[in-house]
Amino acid sequence: MKLPIYMDHHATTPVDPRVVEAMLPYFSEHFGNPASRNHAFGWRAEQAVETARAQVADLLGARSREIVFTSGATESINTALKGVAAARRPKGNHIIALQTEHKAVLDSLQRLEQGDYRVSYIPVEPDGLVAVDRIARAISGDTILISILHANNEIGVIQPVTEIGALARQHGVTMHVDAAQAAGKIPIDVEADRIDLLSLTAHKLYGPKGVGALYIRRRDPRVEMTPLIDGGGHERGFRSGTLNVPGIVGLGKACEIASAEMATESMRLCALRDRLLDGLRKATDDIAVNGSLELRLPHNLNVSFAGVDGETLLMGLDDIAVSSGSACTTATPQPSHVLRALGIGDSLAQASLRFGLGRWNTEEEVDYAVEKVSRIVKRLRELSPIQH
Ligand SMILES: *Cc1c(COP(=O)(O)O)cnc(C)c1O
Repeated sequence: MKLPIYMDHHATTPVDPRVVEAMLPYFSEHFGNPASRNHAFGWRAEQAVETARAQVADLLGARSREIVFTSGATESINTALKGVAAARRPKGNHIIALQTEHKAVLDSLQRLEQGDYRVSYIPVEPDGLVAVDRIARAISGDTILISILHANNEIGVIQPVTEIGALARQHGVTMHVDAAQAAGKIPIDVEADRIDLLSLTAHKLYGPKGVGALYIRRRDPRVEMTPLIDGGGHERGFRSGTLNVPGIVGLGKACEIASAEMATESMRLCALRDRLLDGLRKATDDIAVNGSLELRLPHNLNVSFAGVDGETLLMGLDDIAVSSGSACTTATPQPSHVLRALGIGDSLAQASLRFGLGRWNTEEEVDYAVEKVSRIVKRLRELSPIQH
C-alpha cells in the first residue's frame, strides 16, 4: 500500500490512464483547430471533437447537438443561470434554488440578485433532501428558472430531480441541474428527468481539469439562453473561443468509460463505503452520518465525531487525504453551509469528515483509514473529555 492515500474524490479525481492515452495525440500530432474548415488538420481535430460530443451526449441520454464544451462546471453553471435569466427576463425575474447548492451556483445567483432578479433558496430536510412540495409552493407566475444540485458535493445526497423536473415542466419553468458530482456516477437521462440544462466537469469523473460541458435542450421545449462569451460563434454561438481539443477528447473518453463501467464501479465503491462506515462504527462510538445514507452517491461518506475538532482531526490524518466540514472553500474555517442547512450544530459540523472514495481505492486502504481515524478520534476525546 502506498502512502499518502487519496480519499478526496469529490474535490477532484486522478486522470484515468486510458483518458491520458486518448488525449496524447491531440497535443502535437493532431494539433489542428477544429474551426479550420479547409484542410485536413482542422478536419481531424473537428472529427475528434464530434466523437467526444457524442460520448458526452450518450452518458446523459442527450443528442450530440445539445452538448456545448466549456472550461468546467463553474463556467457551465454561470452560462446557464445568467444566460437563461437574461433571455427569459421578459417572462419574469424569479429563480429557485436549494440552500445547499455549490458556491458556483450560489455566487452566480447572488450576482443576479444584485440586478433585478429575486431568488428563493429552498431549505432541505434534516436528511439533506428537498421536499418537492416546498418547491411547488415557491413557484409563482414570475418564476423563470429552477437550479438543482443533483448530488451534493459534501454529503453526497441525491435530490429527486425527476419529480422536480416534472413540476418545472408543468409550470413552464426552465430547470438547470448541477451534475458535477452525479455525472458518470449515477444514471442520468435528460429525457426521463425532464432536464433542460445540465452542467458537468471532466475532472470529477477521471478526466482532465479545465474542461466541462453544458447540456442545452434543443426541443420540447427549446431552451432560451443568451451566451456569456462572444467572439466567433463557436459551439453554435453559445460559447465562443478556440476549443480545448485534447481536454475535450479526454472528457469524451472519461464519459465513455463511465457509461461502460458505472454499474460495476458503483457496486464496488458502495461495498467499500459500507466497509468504511461499519469499521468506523465498530471502532468508535458516537458517530453520526450526515445526510441520507440511502439516497446517496455510492462513494461518499460524511460523518461527524462528537466532541472532536475536525481541523485537529485532519492534522492528525497526515497520510490520508480527506476533507472536513469546515474550511472547504476558504482559508478561514467556517462551518459548512450544507451541514448548517441540515440543522446540524456548529460544533458537530466542525467535527465532520468527508470521505470520497474512487476508482483505485482498495479494501486495504479503507482498513488503514478506519484504524487511523478511530485511533486519533479516541486520543482527541481523551484529551478533551468534557465536550464529549
Ligand atoms: C466541482 C464542482 C463544481 C465546479 O466545477 P469546476 O469544474 O471545478 O468549475 C460545481 N458544482 C459542484 C457540485 C461541484 O462539485
